[in-house]
Amino acid sequence: MSKRQFKAESKKLLDLMVNSIYTNKDIFLRELISNANDALDKLYYESLTNKKLKVDKKKLKIKLDIDKDKRLFTIEDNGIGMDKDELAENLGTIAKSGSLAFKEALNEKDKVNIIGQFGVGFYSSFMVADKVIVESKKAGDEDAYKWVSEGADGYEITKSNKDSIGTKITLHIKEKTKDDDFDKYLEEFKIKGLVKKYSDYVSYPITIYTYDDDKKEKKESEAINSMVPLWKKNKKKIKEEDYNNFYQEKFFDYVKPLKVIHTKAEGLVSYDALLFIPSNPPFDFYTKEYKKGLELYSNGVLIMDKCEDLLPDYLNFVKGVVDSPDLSLNISREILQQSKQLKLIAKNIEKKILKELTDMLENEREKYEEFFKTFGVNIKYGVYDNYGAKKEDLKDLIIFYSSKEKKKVTLKEYVSKMDKDDDTIYYACGETVDKIDMMPQVEALKEKKKEVLYLTDYVDEFVLKMLDKYDDKKFVNISSNDFDLSSEEEKETLKKKNDDAKDMFDLMKKELGTEVSQIRFTNKLKKHPLCLTSEGNITVEMQKVINAMPTDEHIDAKLVLEINEDHPIAKKIEDLYKTDKETLKKYTKILYDEARLIEGLPVENPTELSNLVCEFLSK
Ligand code: ADP
Ligand code: MG
Repeated sequence: MSKRQFKAESKKLLDLMVNSIYTNKDIFLRELISNANDALDKLYYESLTNKKLKVDKKKLKIKLDIDKDKRLFTIEDNGIGMDKDELAENLGTIAKSGSLAFKEALNEKDKVNIIGQFGVGFYSSFMVADKVIVESKKAGDEDAYKWVSEGADGYEITKSNKDSIGTKITLHIKEKTKDDDFDKYLEEFKIKGLVKKYSDYVSYPITIYTYDDDKKEKKESEAINSMVPLWKKNKKKIKEEDYNNFYQEKFFDYVKPLKVIHTKAEGLVSYDALLFIPSNPPFDFYTKEYKKGLELYSNGVLIMDKCEDLLPDYLNFVKGVVDSPDLSLNISREILQQSKQLKLIAKNIEKKILKELTDMLENEREKYEEFFKTFGVNIKYGVYDNYGAKKEDLKDLIIFYSSKEKKKVTLKEYVSKMDKDDDTIYYACGETVDKIDMMPQVEALKEKKKEVLYLTDYVDEFVLKMLDKYDDKKFVNISSNDFDLSSEEEKETLKKKNDDAKDMFDLMKKELGTEVSQIRFTNKLKKHPLCLTSEGNITVEMQKVINAMPTDEHIDAKLVLEINEDHPIAKKIEDLYKTDKETLKKYTKILYDEARLIEGLPVENPTELSNLVCEFLSK
């Protein structure tokens, strides 16, 4: 019988394959197994309507065998099989619909894309084999046929004496080369590993023939794949422990997850997803090597072990798997990124996670606070990432410590307790709750029975700036000058007092150089003598954060030194202005440095400060 030629496109593709464009040769097994799986499915569905076909579903399976000496690897299924025409049609041509597009794509530079785009599954066997034999008997037929090819130069089809229904593919594994060790595909250990990795959730048993201990006889193994993936099982039949074990094994965590999300979607796009929120940050979370992503499957066959596009950056801590029959197996990373289905799945998953977090916040507050302690920064990051694109979705998931409640509250909770005519959400920044609690401005507000949010995380103030408002209420940093709770009358009196002291403050300011933009009396402080605030957009806290970053960026807040008008120090400096200007200058330095210390800012010259203080102490 004369040799038949592959269709032109197939020939080119085979060349590409053999010249190792597809870097991951391991996937040949995944492709052959999923073809076998399809063939078993087809037979089963056919048998439901075709009474002549007697099929016992329990007997459907995929068998693997290795003959090391002859360098043969076989994979056999008892599925639908192929007749003579089908062998020629299916294995002699690239997916027909794609052939035109394929030709066009072939001219493009990036050849890697091409491979992923077309039904090239079967051809991947030529990556590891220099000769491929396919013997097949179609269900319902009398005759069996044999397809043989040694690669690009064509194939032959002859009669075969195969007597059972289904397909048997024999690969003559290539000899070892400098670059590639094909011998590994003749190792039982390697093959089992590949089945576990890529085909563990194929729904038919995959067995392998192995020698018994005395190496005389070969025996068929039990199924080496787990078959039913946990995410496909009925939720009601899964125990919490099953989820936890699955998570811990798969994602190498020694503690159970904080939250399990098992969800199924049908409609525009269908998928099963099994997601986990870890209790602790993954071990490599804070390293550069850490990559977000979910495992992506198509009908139980692994497509990608870290699909980044399934998760937005701020949810990078979420672990899990997604399985969608709508995605083709032969899909490359580049194509996948543009896939509409994938985008839709990603959007749904994000929504689902946020909904679960909202539920947790409302119904399992303690657990949510635990979550927030670990991953709250992520949520905050989500608010200001992308110029605040997600802020509406995330603003109710943020919690801050409240001066009134002595625990963390949401902005919604804060606003719900506000006086009707109040339009301001007050906050203060600092290193710890305790430190903020001692701030002079906080005390003054507590006196007025106002609730203050304590911001202890370096991103917090940026988050509020990004939100701009909540429910039409503006945010005010009580260390800035935008807020003033005094009455018109009090304001008037204070203004007059400050106007009268103008010359004195000018002298003091001159002493501090460009350090402060203003010095003035205030009536905001209760018992405390002084504080440092800021004017304009940049607050003291933001200055601290930005300047602490390892970049060249440097900003300066416009600092205002405020002195409590009711404190004895106010009278003291006024006296000094009249009697002893030199001592006033020294006082000014001490007062300013004190204010900086209270704000948690460094003092420029600690020695000078200490000398000055001692000078006065020893008087
Ligand atoms: P795809 O699976 O994407 O269609 P493949 O190159 O993997 O592309 O396979 C080409 C075709 O060959 C399949 O669509 C199927 O019709 C046929 N085929 C491959 N393997 C088998 C098998 N084990 N049993 C029956 N048909 C098969
Ligand atoms: Mg295939």
